[in-house]
Amino acid sequence: MRSDAEYLRLTMKLAAESRASGSHPFGALLVGPEGDVLFSSGNTYARDRGVGHAESNVARAAALRYEPAFLAGCMLVTSVEPCCMCSGASYWAGIGTVVFGLSEKQLVKLTGDNPRNLTIDLSCRQVFAAGRRQIEVRGPFPELEDEILKDHKDFW
Ligand SMILES: [Zn+2]
Repeated sequence: MRSDAEYLRLTMKLAAESRASGSHPFGALLVGPEGDVLFSSGNTYARDRGVGHAESNVARAAALRYEPAFLAGCMLVTSVEPCCMCSGASYWAGIGTVVFGLSEKQLVKLTGDNPRNLTIDLSCRQVFAAGRRQIEVRGPFPELEDEILKDHKDFW
């Protein structure tokens, strides 16, 4: 099992690849109970438009492949806090833990009114608190903020 920071750096790599391929700079992965990366995805805006978020892509792939009982022992790691759609997808997939690097509040300072990313001001903790299943959340990681923002600063 790697550290949260190590997994988060892998999501930053995915975010950079997404950006290079014409989508938005976000990346997410699913880590299994033994610490292995089971799925990963960048943002797929170029293909899926506004619903092509990295975390939802991973949650959907995970739900197709694994039972919720297994996913309860998995964690979704994402460079930026999952939005309400992605938090919902993680919840419905049955993923037990969510780790994110940068908070939605920090992201919105950069994206503002950019029509490609009109963020919804709802933290993942708020979404999960409204559910009936406990999800562990770790984040944000302020010490990684500069690294995560690198791919966002001149993008929006
Ligand atoms: Zn999302």
